[in-house]
Amino acid sequence: MYDRVDAMQCSKCRREAIIWQRYSGLHLCREHFIADLEAKAKREIRQRRMIASGDVIAVALSGGKDSSALLYFLTKTFGKRRDLSIIALTVDEGIAGYRDTAAARRIAEECGVTWHCVSFEEIVGTTTDQIVQRLGDALSCTYCGVIRRHCLNTAARSLGATRLAMGMNLDDEAQSVLMNALRGDAERMVRTSAPVPGVVPRIKPFAAVPEREVALYAILRFGGFTEKGCPYAHNALRADVRTLLNDYAYRHPATKYALKNLGEHLPAICGDTPSRLRVCPECGEPCGDTCRSCSLVREARGE
Ligand code: SF4
Repeated sequence: MYDRVDAMQCSKCRREAIIWQRYSGLHLCREHFIADLEAKAKREIRQRRMIASGDVIAVALSGGKDSSALLYFLTKTFGKRRDLSIIALTVDEGIAGYRDTAAARRIAEECGVTWHCVSFEEIVGTTTDQIVQRLGDALSCTYCGVIRRHCLNTAARSLGATRLAMGMNLDDEAQSVLMNALRGDAERMVRTSAPVPGVVPRIKPFAAVPEREVALYAILRFGGFTEKGCPYAHNALRADVRTLLNDYAYRHPATKYALKNLGEHLPAICGDTPSRLRVCPECGEPCGDTCRSCSLVREARGE
C-alpha cells in the first residue's frame, strides 16, 4: 500500500526508506517522511492563514487515521502555545457497530486534550440507523453528511471554538472537486469560502497531503487502527470517484494536486460567488433558502 521499496535508501540521507512518493520521485526514511508531511501541513496553515493567536481549535475526531493524525499533528505543533487551545469533538451518527467513540476518547487522552462527544440523537432527535430504517439506504450518506455537518457546527459553536479542524486530505479534496464536476454542480465549484456568520470556519491542514501519507503518519504514531467500514458506505458516490481517481492518478501522479488547485482557483476566476446563507429560524444553523438539515430531519421523522 505504501510503495515500500526494500533496501532503498532515503533520498536525503543514508537511512532505509519507508515510502516512495511517486509524484516527487523521492524515497524517504521515517524521519524525513515525518518532516516532509509536517512541512506540507505547516505551509498549508501559513498560506491560508488558518490559525491566529487566541483561537480555540476544535478538532473533528472520528478516531480513524485521518482525524487522529490531525489531532496529533496539531497538538505536537501548537500544544505548547499559550495563546491557542485545542479540543477534540466526536459526533456519533448512530450507526450500530460502526462509530467507536471509545477509540476517539483514547486518542484524545493520548494527545492530552479535552474530549467532547455529541450525537445525532441528542442534537436532531434521530439517528442514521433510524433514518435508513424509515427511508431505505439509497440516500443514507446524503442525510448523514448534512446532519453531521450541522451537529459539528452546533457543538463547536457552543464550545466556543473559533476554528473547526477537519482531517480531509489531498485525496478528499481532489475527489470533492471531481464529484462536483460529475454532478454538474457549477455553483458549488465557484462558491467562495468567505466567512459566514454562525458558521465556525473550517480548516483543513492536511489538504495538501496524500491520503496514504496521512495514514502512514497515523500508523507510525498510534500503531494499527481497527476501522470498521460503515454498513452504508456502498452508497457513497465518493467511493466510485475514489477508485476512478486513484486509477488515473497512478498513471498521472500530479492529478490530485491539479484538481485541488482547480477547486481553489475557480472561485477567484469566476468572480467569487458568495454563498447566500441565512440563519434557520428553526434550528439556528446557517442555511440556504430552505434549511436542508431541518427538511431532511423532518422527512426522516415522517413529518
Ligand atoms: Fe454516514 Fe455515509 Fe459516511 Fe456511513 S459512509 S458514516 S452513512 S456519510
